[in-house]
Amino acid sequence: MITDSTVAALHGQRVQGVLTTLGLTTDMIAFPAGEAAKDIGTVLSICDQMLAQGADRTAALIALGGGVVGDIAGFVASIYMRGIPYLQIPTTLLAQVDSGIGGKTGIDRSHGKNILGTFYQPKGVFIDLSFLKTLPLPELRNGLAEVIKYGVIEDPDLFGILESKAEEINSLDLDLLQEIVIKSCRIKKGIVEIDEHERGVRRILNFGHTIGHAIEAESGYAITHGDAVAMGMVTAAVISERLHHLPAGDRERIIALIRAIGLPNTIPPHLTPAGIYARLYGDKKKAGDTLHFVLLKKIGTAFVTSAVPEELIKETIKGLQA
Ligand code: NAD
Ligand code: MG
Repeated sequence: MITDSTVAALHGQRVQGVLTTLGLTTDMIAFPAGEAAKDIGTVLSICDQMLAQGADRTAALIALGGGVVGDIAGFVASIYMRGIPYLQIPTTLLAQVDSGIGGKTGIDRSHGKNILGTFYQPKGVFIDLSFLKTLPLPELRNGLAEVIKYGVIEDPDLFGILESKAEEINSLDLDLLQEIVIKSCRIKKGIVEIDEHERGVRRILNFGHTIGHAIEAESGYAITHGDAVAMGMVTAAVISERLHHLPAGDRERIIALIRAIGLPNTIPPHLTPAGIYARLYGDKKKAGDTLHFVLLKKIGTAFVTSAVPEELIKETIKGLQA
């Protein structure tokens, strides 16, 4: 079982106890919590510990944790002795609705995030909402930004639930969250099954992320992923309206929901539009020189385009800083 220091302390023994009851022998390997651990050193250290413990091709890995643990454990599973099976037990909302599903694994390099990795599907994903009881609120919001994204790009019903139940969600109503997590998982699963390797429709999952990643990077990662994606979604909604795709009322509903969930709907003024724009071209998701933007026709209908003028992007960012 691969986990991080925080999750090991909160949930490690309990999960290991359950596995023992099921007759499974597990060793737990924990690395320091946080994105900084998502590097090749951690991968090699895990592999060395597995070798020292005698793990061979009959071993399997369990990823117990957030997206960092899932991405690292999946990566190790994909290369250890040419590949061993793994399971995801995601413990953050983001991992439950997003990173735990879809089989993208990876680690960061100084060039960028997730720059080395594999597509390698887990054999299963076990989601237990009770893990969320210990999750800090900013981490919950990182996951909620992705949930809002699913509603906006694919599912007006999910969007409506989020709109009408924002308060219950913010106070961690687990029954409601279960409904939301199931809907989110089905949306991601449906898209990934059509386009596992992100050559087409999977790109719509980047809604809010093209500009979001640029904002995150330009802030030196001082802005959380969820906050940056929220800002990116607002920017994409405004651009969609300006290009006459999206009705103003839909843009207003998206912004209102982002606020109701406690996510930001403006971009901090210390980040310059030119600086954010320059970062767009540092985004590894560019294909050749073409940047892909995910825009909206209405809530629930997204499409991918590369035709967004530079001036409109910069103007929109500036407008959101007022
Ligand atoms: P994370 O894994 O760093 O977890 C956030 C923090 O919450 C950590 O400090 C962690 O120790 C702690 N934590 C985890 N579960 C907890 C719990 N139940 N209670 C209390 N604390 C808990 O971050 P994340 O937001 O889960 O994932 C972000 C990572 O996921 C990034 O590296 C990103 O690149 C990756 N990601 C991957 C995919 C994919 O498709 N593979 C998709 C989206 C994001
Ligand atoms: Mg994301």
